[in-house]
Amino acid sequence: MTIKAYGAYAADKPLEPLAIERRQPGPHDVQIDILFCGVCHSDLHTVRSEWGGTLYPCVPGHEIVGRVTAVGADVAGFAVGETVGIGCLVDSCQHCPSCAEGLEQYCENGFVGTYNGPTHEAPGHTLGGYSQRIVVDDKFVLKIRHPEDQLAAVAPLLCAGITTYSPLRHWKVGPGKKVGIVGIGGLGHMGVKLAHAMGARTIAFTTSESKREDAKALGADEVIVSRNPDEMAAHEGSFDFILDTVAASHDLNAYTKLLRRDGTLVLVGVPEHPHPSPDVSALIMKRRAIAGSLIGGIAETQEMLDFCAEKGIVADIEMIPIQKIDEAYDRMQKSDVKYRFVIDNSSLVE
Ligand code: NAP
Ligand code: ZN
Repeated sequence: MTIKAYGAYAADKPLEPLAIERRQPGPHDVQIDILFCGVCHSDLHTVRSEWGGTLYPCVPGHEIVGRVTAVGADVAGFAVGETVGIGCLVDSCQHCPSCAEGLEQYCENGFVGTYNGPTHEAPGHTLGGYSQRIVVDDKFVLKIRHPEDQLAAVAPLLCAGITTYSPLRHWKVGPGKKVGIVGIGGLGHMGVKLAHAMGARTIAFTTSESKREDAKALGADEVIVSRNPDEMAAHEGSFDFILDTVAASHDLNAYTKLLRRDGTLVLVGVPEHPHPSPDVSALIMKRRAIAGSLIGGIAETQEMLDFCAEKGIVADIEMIPIQKIDEAYDRMQKSDVKYRFVIDNSSLVE
């Protein structure tokens, strides 16, 4: 069926209304009418082809919350009327060692992203959540257990939430650990909330003086404005773990220096231009590590959603109609968002 969407025809073109096709649900499919879709910085990187390789037309959006409107004959776990989520993944091979371990994001045959991923359907690549409806294999559909009035603020959990939750869990963040979150945007503000909820001593690093007070309200025990060398120097050699969510190239040495012996700096931000190569001596002297992490698998995403529902955690959002998406991108580029734009998908009909 034909539905309304918003997308771009080229890297240098604004997003505009377009009509796209969704398949009729097959036996294992869940058809979802989309209520809300979060706006991730990856959407912007992709639409503008900052990482290269974007296929057009490009319809971004991988923080999706919606209502089930049809299910295939073999779908047992979902029913019409249920509230569900779709994150960054819509398919994977299901038989490689990573898929077997529930780590579909590391599928050794390549996962299929919610947008810009390979598919046999027209136009040959997947189209995301800036649209009225999506049809997804039931293995990639998540249960949403938050109350109805929080659904818009739940949407960002599907990417920003899981991308910060997964490394915090993998590196065993919890009570007794000193944890830094760098870049208090969509991902970073979720990182602060989650690290705090896991019981860690949580320190927020921001370049924005205007975020100093509210980062405390998000759950940070302390906030460091990273442009102030004295504030940074006071924490040298003291962190167990630092999660870097910054969407732009910057000096990593400023953070590796802050790690204690055997501490780890995990990068999740994927800037358009590479970071300058970090200083090796700062790494070898204290056996410090730099690592990376990609979103999270389906089982862990469900675990994160349930953890957040139980603890009452959602994103801090600013709701927009789809017609304001280019303005939202421009503001995101200037770090001017507290802390995630979410599209009200009902605006697509206007
Ligand atoms: P965002 O909302 O734009 O937040 C990024 C934050 O980084 C900004 O709010 C700002 O925080 C800081 N920042 C921006 N420019 C900076 C600069 N020039 N120098 C220092 N700090 C700067 O973006 P997001 O949606 O959270 O995404 C962050 C990055 O993660 C993007 O590159 C995105 O593509 C990537 N990502 C990765 C994964 C993954 O699986 N690894 C998943 C999703 C997104 P302050 O104002 O506090 O300084
Ligand atoms: Zn994302």
